[in-house]
Amino acid sequence: MNIAVPVHKAGALPAAERPAAPLTDPFGRNITYLRLSVTDRCDMRCVYCMSEDMNFLPKRDLLTFEELDRLCTAFISRGVGKIRITGGEPLVRRDIMRLFKNLARHIASGALTELTLTTNGSQLARHAKDLAAVGVRRINVSLDTLDPDKYRAITRWGDHAKTMAGIDAAQEAGHSVKINMVALKGINEDEIIPMLEWAHARGADMSLIEVMPLGAIEAGRAEQYLPLNIVKQRLAERFTLRELNYRTGGPARYVKIEETGGRLGFITPLTHNFCESCNRVRVTCTGTLFMCLGQEDAADLRTPLRASPTDELLHRALDAAIARKPKGHDFVIDASHSRAPAVARHMSVTGG
Ligand code: SAM
Repeated sequence: MNIAVPVHKAGALPAAERPAAPLTDPFGRNITYLRLSVTDRCDMRCVYCMSEDMNFLPKRDLLTFEELDRLCTAFISRGVGKIRITGGEPLVRRDIMRLFKNLARHIASGALTELTLTTNGSQLARHAKDLAAVGVRRINVSLDTLDPDKYRAITRWGDHAKTMAGIDAAQEAGHSVKINMVALKGINEDEIIPMLEWAHARGADMSLIEVMPLGAIEAGRAEQYLPLNIVKQRLAERFTLRELNYRTGGPARYVKIEETGGRLGFITPLTHNFCESCNRVRVTCTGTLFMCLGQEDAADLRTPLRASPTDELLHRALDAAIARKPKGHDFVIDASHSRAPAVARHMSVTGG
């Protein structure tokens, strides 16, 4: 399906000339949320995310900041209102604040309602104030344990104290912090309650995430996988859980824990997917568009981006790709699927 769009000067967003066509997929879902991975590199090697020996993309394959900006601007012109910068670890990309500073103009203009990021927190102490200054308001920090030794075991290379300092700095700079905790069977399941009490006591929301079968890792997925419906039942024995309509534009479904007064999100791609309301796409740092986290189909945006100084080819490529957005993913983790990932690429490539 090719939809005619007006010719755009690259990177410009002439409000009066916005293309009429929003990005709507064949199931009527509007794409309003872009997750952009700015690097596949990370300063940690979380055991469920990466293998210890990872091959990273040559730096020359990465989109430049100018190209990333142009891409984001094209998405915004088609109705994307929320952009999450991710990776790999987004804050390890050199001069990453340049991208945030440039994209901030879309917050100022009102075209973008939210510019945010997901980070492991290791570099947050350094960047928290600058991120607040450009208009980032909410930050997701990945943290799977409060125990420094376990943190080192899960992340392989991470330093718990640095991440905690990053969380402190983010809150001091005025960011609303959400802690993202991947629920890992037998590894951190005993910490779910202490973690949520800790997060809520410091005014942070928390989300639990089911481990997804993305990329080959050393462990079997079935060994790590802890279904969150079981966790929710256990929590309900201890706390009063009130279902909330609160949404942040992502896949989490929230409850309020009455005893702590805080929110707890459940991201449940395996036990209960919400594909029917999916509003998201992901772009990698090389400009590959994935219409679904859990499917292999992808579209190359780098070629149309580089082929022309205007955005017409890019918009055509977007239309063709969104017309192929699948209905949903079909993640399965059980004994027979434990070793073979549902998709070959790691989360660090697609962008979490
Ligand atoms: N480096 C950043 C961070 O740590 O938040 C951003 C990228 S990381 C890939 C984004 C999120 O994906 C993290 O919360 C991480 O825990 C989660 N993640 C990575 N691999 C996953 C998997 N296989 N299943 C579920 N969550 C995963």
